[in-house]
Amino acid sequence: MNGKHIGLIYTGGTVGMAKAANGYAPMPDFAGVLTRLLDTYRDGLPRYTLHAYPSPIDSTNARPQDWQTIGRDIAARYEDYDGFVILHGTDTMAYTATALSFMLQGLRKPVIVTGSQIPLGVPRSDAAQNLITSLQLAASDAIHEVAICFHQRLLRGNRSTKVSSTRLEAFDSPNYPRLAEIGIEVRLNEDALLPRPTHEHFELPDYRQDLVLPVRFVPGMPMSVVRAMLDLKPRALILECFGSGNAPDRDPALLQMLNEARRNGVVTVACSQSLHAEVAIGTYAAGAGMSAVGVIGACDMTFEAIYVKLHHLLAMGLSADVIREQFQRPLCGEVSAL
Ligand code: ASP
Repeated sequence: MNGKHIGLIYTGGTVGMAKAANGYAPMPDFAGVLTRLLDTYRDGLPRYTLHAYPSPIDSTNARPQDWQTIGRDIAARYEDYDGFVILHGTDTMAYTATALSFMLQGLRKPVIVTGSQIPLGVPRSDAAQNLITSLQLAASDAIHEVAICFHQRLLRGNRSTKVSSTRLEAFDSPNYPRLAEIGIEVRLNEDALLPRPTHEHFELPDYRQDLVLPVRFVPGMPMSVVRAMLDLKPRALILECFGSGNAPDRDPALLQMLNEARRNGVVTVACSQSLHAEVAIGTYAAGAGMSAVGVIGACDMTFEAIYVKLHHLLAMGLSADVIREQFQRPLCGEVSAL
């Protein structure tokens, strides 16, 4: 395809697994199986070079340092290729795609993240379809961002979330339009794609894994749960609230704790447990006190985007005050401008 050359990075996931004694595990000769498949379609595909990680992982085990490894590998080979395809497990694919988008800001080439619900080579597998479409999209001149290509959809990576562990349409981007519908034709949604940036400004800081902790409110939850989380000394706390960002306020201990946390330099973000959401703290009286103690609303970001963005901003060495001030601003299309 137009002389394009794609870097294909295999990190692990179901796509490259086979049944082992204790369940699915990485298959020994994935590179061989993949090459044989792609050879069959050589005429319709761009040239590619496979970089298979020596120890592919189930993405359930991915840590922020693994996002960093992939981001740095892409950055190191950026000039060698016209686009990239990252083969990854579905469980934490949205986190990795989001992290790549923050690391590779100003990207001028497609980075397409994909995987499958059924391993390559198993009857009815979705792997070939996802992989082949991803390779074609990675050769596109119109895509300048990190996207997830999965079962007839192209989604902005940092707007995506895994919505199904049983269906082949495993991902969606509930608060942002799809970047393309993939049927007989691939129809790019030009209005939704990021414009071509003028220059790359990659940020590849050292990620740490103990900085950001989530608390999910459930009816009747004792506030000592929040205390226990804060006792772990996170730098940021994500409150998974109800609806439009409402937290229970019957127990005054919550606001006292959040106020104390702010004084100790903790950034607290309120998001919603709803799939479609736009968090505006203070819409309801319950929870309105949160903004008074410095809690910031996550607007329409996915949970994955919130979690990774906090990691990224903290890893960039920004202070709590600067993070509070910058958090709601879009860095790479992850949140709608206020
Ligand atoms: N547990 C697998 C993973 O995330 C699931 C998958 O790839 O679909 O690596």
